[in-house]
Amino acid sequence: MENLLEALPETLLMGPGPSSVHPSTLRAMAAPEIGHLDPRFLRIMDQTLDLLRQVFQTQNQLTLPLSGTGSAGMEAAVVNFVRPGDRVVVGLNGYFGQRLAEMARRQGAEVVGVETEWGRPVETADLRKALAGGPTRLVALVHAETSTGVLQPLEEAADAAHRAGAMLLADAVTSLGGVPVAVDARGVDIAYAGTQKCLSCPPGLAPLTCNDRARQAVEDRAGDPPSWYLDLKLVARYWGEERFYHHTAPINMIYALNQALRLVVEEGLEARFERHRQVARGLWAGLEAMELRLVVPEDQRTPSLTTVWIPEGIDDAAVRRRLLAVHGIEIGGALGPWKGRAWRIGTMGESARPQNVYRFLAALGECLGRFGHPVGVREALAAAREAMAALEG
Ligand SMILES: *Cc1c(COP(=O)(O)O)cnc(C)c1O
Repeated sequence: MENLLEALPETLLMGPGPSSVHPSTLRAMAAPEIGHLDPRFLRIMDQTLDLLRQVFQTQNQLTLPLSGTGSAGMEAAVVNFVRPGDRVVVGLNGYFGQRLAEMARRQGAEVVGVETEWGRPVETADLRKALAGGPTRLVALVHAETSTGVLQPLEEAADAAHRAGAMLLADAVTSLGGVPVAVDARGVDIAYAGTQKCLSCPPGLAPLTCNDRARQAVEDRAGDPPSWYLDLKLVARYWGEERFYHHTAPINMIYALNQALRLVVEEGLEARFERHRQVARGLWAGLEAMELRLVVPEDQRTPSLTTVWIPEGIDDAAVRRRLLAVHGIEIGGALGPWKGRAWRIGTMGESARPQNVYRFLAALGECLGRFGHPVGVREALAAAREAMAALEG
């Protein structure tokens, strides 16, 4: 039988996730298998929790990686904190906000959507208006909306939520490890993330953190949450002192997360955030020098994901196919209303490097030229270089 794995080429992942993984993180996955209650594994678990708290910028005791991708983190947040009949205010300015709303709806919540045009952050004034409509359990916002490339400010939303007696839930899937999430400083009550975006670890785990207030809400909940697998009380007993068996930790994924987090902390959070900012600026400058139009106004963009309009007459899928087949680079198409009209370019974690920006700009220029839309590649590279100059040191 054909070995499909052997034939895999190195691919530069500059789409909406997964991002490229550091070789040391991939190697970590191949470390010897040991038992999930082996004392050596327990030490790895503890160290991983410690690293996770650093990266979330939190002292929260209840911080752990759930088994499952980012969506498992989203579902865990919803099933544990939203009870049937609870009023939940959800920011609807992109695809992942809609997914949050859908999960809350399935839990029997009264979902109050706060709509904003795609490509713009949710306004605090609109959140306040929605909160004034009745006692609210939770305000749910997507910090970095991967469908649009918008970065949602969180401080004012946290303040508005708290004044109304609600908790703030933040989806940090496309921000954790690339953009400051600053859970404690911003007063975020609950946040979850994924491993495959700015942490540059393969998909498979969903780090989640919640503060004492949220933890108390879990403790005080009358009745069990409808999910056994994602029940935070049970999962926390497994990750806590008790080591009470719940489900077997995905051991090799934890190895990978441990190593990926170590890389984040060794680089330094501030240095890593700055690298993401500079690389994004380089990408933006390069795209603009090609006379392409970026979707989101600069002060509202997340550095981890850039959306750009596709030039008139250019076939979205044909360009992405060629980028992958000829240049070995993956980028993403757009979702929902922007399907076929915009590209999504991720600069997350290991992918957020100047050399990748140069490689991508040159490749995109080649593809656009090939399909009858010549652009100034030389100008794009020069503009990117200037914008990223500080990174060259
Ligand atoms: C990718 C993503 C998710 C879902 O993560 P999966 O790993 O695909 O399950 C949720 N929210 C946001 C903002 C994302 O970018």
